[in-house]
Amino acid sequence: MTAAREAAMDIAGDAPASAGAPATVLQVEDLSLEFRARGRSAEVLSCVSFALRAGETLCLVGESGCGKSMTALAIMRLVPPPGRIGGGRVRLRGADLASLDEAAMRRVRGNHLSMIFQEPMTALNPVYTVGEQIAEPLRLHQGLDRRQARERAVEMLRSVGIPLPERRVDDYPHQMSGGMRQRVMIAIALACDPEVLIADEPTTALDVTVQAQIFDLLREQQARRGTAVLLITHDMGAVSEMADRVVVMYGGRVVEQGAAGEVLSRPLHPYTRGLIACLPELDRAPGDLRPDLPEIPGVVPSIWDRGEGCPFFDRCGQAMPRCRGAFPPLAQAGARGHDVACWLYPETT
Ligand code: SF4
Repeated sequence: MTAAREAAMDIAGDAPASAGAPATVLQVEDLSLEFRARGRSAEVLSCVSFALRAGETLCLVGESGCGKSMTALAIMRLVPPPGRIGGGRVRLRGADLASLDEAAMRRVRGNHLSMIFQEPMTALNPVYTVGEQIAEPLRLHQGLDRRQARERAVEMLRSVGIPLPERRVDDYPHQMSGGMRQRVMIAIALACDPEVLIADEPTTALDVTVQAQIFDLLREQQARRGTAVLLITHDMGAVSEMADRVVVMYGGRVVEQGAAGEVLSRPLHPYTRGLIACLPELDRAPGDLRPDLPEIPGVVPSIWDRGEGCPFFDRCGQAMPRCRGAFPPLAQAGARGHDVACWLYPETT
């Protein structure tokens, strides 16, 4: 038996668990990713580590360009060229995904580990019906025949709230609204009951009211199936609504992580504080003369312009000379499990 096959079989086994704590289903350890172009190389992700536990929602937060989507693609082993994993591990139920050959990895994708993308119109195949696209992973991974897979596709459409599923199963993606297409994407992703669902900005392309419906649907499906969800978002409102735990990324690194209630009520990193300060206040009455919403000055640095020090240096109102010299290590600075990477906290020295 090859190592890859053994690893693939490990994924189907029981997740390791310690007494009383939910099992870790996905472990990202010191993940690094680099891009090489025109004789130069740049680090896109540096030593990214976090754990996703069974049944929880972990939000990966940050602005565009912070490395969230690249982290998701690295987990799925779908990094586009010229990207290349530089180091670290991704373990699913203890199995090292890097040890799987491509055929074994295809069996993992869609079966144990699924992903939904922000723009369902580009993720769905326009020349197949939505029923055929839901049926495909069921036939591939679960050996269902054509009739069984179609019946299950109808069931999945019903479970994600598509009306008249027996009829809509034969629709093509362009015959559906944006919200319905995203429901179809969720049906495809959950068809094989994966342990982990990665949702990359799943509501960005949708109206606000439809966004709320999609989050409700994700929560309901998660409660029903026990799926662990890695939700990638730039929206702190979505974080406060969905997250059990939060990982804040900036410049390709984890800069803060902890329980959602702890991070949202006692943010430590200046970047996290800036993201939270940008949240609109819902209690604001007409004529309220409080100043406009603050914004974080500047932009996320390009991967080609990152230096040795803290990548937030140029935008940070509390930067000190030492911040330019070296990136601070991630260390506990709040309640247990609340870690921050910032030289403001003596624990990191
Ligand atoms: Fe600001 Fe320095 Fe902390 Fe970076 S390490 S966030 S520059 S205080």
